[in-house]
Amino acid sequence: MSNKRIVKVGNVEIGSGKVSIQSMTNTKTTDIDATINQILQLEKAGCELVRSSVPGEESAIALKEIIKNIHIPMIADIHFSHKLALMSADAGVNKIRINPGNIGGVDKAKYLADYLKERNIALRIGVNGGSLDSKYKSMPLAKAMCESALEYVSVLEKCNFYDIVISAKSSNVKTMIETYRLLDKACDYPLHLGVTEAGIYHTGLVKSAVGIGSLLCDGIGDTIRVSLSDDPVKEVEAAKDILKACDKYNKPYCEIISCPTCARTNIKVKELAEQVEEMCKDIPKAIKVAVMGCVVNGIGESQGANLGVAGGKDKSAIFVDGEYVCNVNNEEILPVLKKYILEYQSKN
Ligand code: SF4
Repeated sequence: MSNKRIVKVGNVEIGSGKVSIQSMTNTKTTDIDATINQILQLEKAGCELVRSSVPGEESAIALKEIIKNIHIPMIADIHFSHKLALMSADAGVNKIRINPGNIGGVDKAKYLADYLKERNIALRIGVNGGSLDSKYKSMPLAKAMCESALEYVSVLEKCNFYDIVISAKSSNVKTMIETYRLLDKACDYPLHLGVTEAGIYHTGLVKSAVGIGSLLCDGIGDTIRVSLSDDPVKEVEAAKDILKACDKYNKPYCEIISCPTCARTNIKVKELAEQVEEMCKDIPKAIKVAVMGCVVNGIGESQGANLGVAGGKDKSAIFVDGEYVCNVNNEEILPVLKKYILEYQSKN
C-alpha cells in the first residue's frame, strides 16, 4: 500500500500503489491523425497515460480533437509558455507537465495553479538539472533538483493546489536515483520516474532498468516513463518489462525463463525460448515456464518454474512442478510444451 497522496489523472490514480506506464508521442501534435494513430498503438501496447508536446498554439488547439479519439488520459508537455498550458487545459487534457524553471515566474505558476484547480487538472513539476535557478548551482545536483522541486511545490501549496506529481530526471543514473530518494523522504507527492536522454534502445533500456528499477525495488515511484530514441511503443514494452522484473506489474502474465547455455546444451535454447515467449505472450496467468539446455542440470536449475523443458540429445524432458512427466522428440518440443502450458493454465 502506497503512503503517497493519490493524484487522479483522468481514470488513472497516481500514488495508489499501482505503478502506471507512460509514454510520449513523437509525431507532430499538429498532425492530428498521426498522433491519434500513435496513441492508439501505445494503448494497445499497454500505455496508461500519454504525453504530447505543445510547442505552439496550433498544437494546443489540436489536442482537443486528439483527446476525442483516444482512451487514455492525455498530458500536455509545456515549456516556456503558461498561455499554452491554459490553452491545453481548455482543450481537455488531464494533466499538464511544466518545467517550473522556464514557465515565466512564480506569478504565472500561481495563475496556472488556480486555473487547473478549477478544472480538476493535475500538474507535474518536471525539474531538470539544466534549468535550475542559479541559487542552487553550488549544491550537489541531486540535492539541488530536490530543493528546486520542493520550492515549486510550496508555491503551489500556497495556492491550495495539491494535485501534484513530481519528476526530477537526470541522464546520469546515479544522480537520478539519489534525487528521487531525497524527494521520497521529503514529501508525499507521487513520483514520476525516468532517466532522461537515456539514449538509443539498448543503452536506454539498461540505464532505465537500473535507474527506475533500483527505485521501484525500494518501493519508490508511482508512474514511469522509459525514454528511448526509438519507437515509443518500445518504451511501453520496456516499461512493462522493468515492472515485471521488479514484481510491480499488476496483471498476471506468463514468464519465460531460459538458461544461458553452455557446453552441455543439447537444444536451440534461444530460438525455442523466443518461440515459447511469443506463444505465451497473451496467457493471462501467473505461470513460469523454463527452457533449459540440458537434462543434467535443467530441472534442478529451473526451480521456481511451474513447468518447462530440459534438452536431451534426441529427446528432451518435459517437467511440471519440478517432476519429470515425459520425453519428447526434440523436433516436437514446442507443440508438446504448448499442450502442457495450456493444461496447466486451465487447472491453475
Ligand atoms: S541448464 Fe544445462 S545447458 Fe543450460 S546452462 Fe545449465 S548446465 Fe548448461
